[in-house]
Amino acid sequence: MDEDLRDDVAPRRTDAWYVVDWLEEARRRLVFEVRDTRSAQGRLETHVKRVTLDDLVLFHGHACDGLLRGAYAMRALGDVAFDGGPFDRSDLEVVSKNSPCLGDVAAYLTGGRARFGTHRLDDSLGVGFVVREVSTGRTWEVREEPGFFPALIGAWEAALLDDDLVDNGYLRAADKAELIAVNEARQWTWVREVLLASRPSDHYVVRTLEDVELPEPIHRARRTDVVNRDVPAPEEYASPYEPLMGSGGSPRGGEGSTWELRYDEGPVKPRA
Ligand SMILES: [Zn+2]
Repeated sequence: MDEDLRDDVAPRRTDAWYVVDWLEEARRRLVFEVRDTRSAQGRLETHVKRVTLDDLVLFHGHACDGLLRGAYAMRALGDVAFDGGPFDRSDLEVVSKNSPCLGDVAAYLTGGRARFGTHRLDDSLGVGFVVREVSTGRTWEVREEPGFFPALIGAWEAALLDDDLVDNGYLRAADKAELIAVNEARQWTWVREVLLASRPSDHYVVRTLEDVELPEPIHRARRTDVVNRDVPAPEEYASPYEPLMGSGGSPRGGEGSTWELRYDEGPVKPRA
């Protein structure tokens, strides 16, 4: 068995028709751990969560060569940057091409969001990402090896989206239905025979970047659910929902404790 294939991945959900049988090996290779804050005002959660290829497909909407190439790239980056450990989605900024598929991989796995200015766009990146850890400034880049993806498929991917080719008579609109089907067949054959036969580090090259300037954000707003990420765990009061949300019950520290009384006064304590 390949040492990068995990043997602890849950079987596909029975209703997951959108993840086909021959993606089984990819399901065991493209497994990600992510860390987030506990709640909208919460500190960083100590437990990590698992994101699988099935989750990526659900979020993105379909399995496609772009999603798989993006997941391969991000797996390669995570293995170098985080030593295979979790992506801290409360502490990362990402740059990707503005592609539906690569952009979704970037946003889902890093927590970067265009609306907070933490998902930035650079179409010159191609199939690859830049990921920066906000707290430390450490930055990594991953890029697909040039020539790995067949140029012919790449050319058709662009052509099938280019209305000018139809308008100028190079491509008959009536032929598109057939050519889109051939394109899909060629994409999946390449994925099966070439991409899935390789490991992420074989063709996705990761390097550390120093003092890199990220592209300007298209929007910038305060992301509030990570503001308290570094607040330590409480020492005196512990809600009954600690550490993982249980079924309620009495808080340690007791109902009517000093901290609950302080809370009941409201955030702005009346002056004595
Ligand atoms: Zn896609």
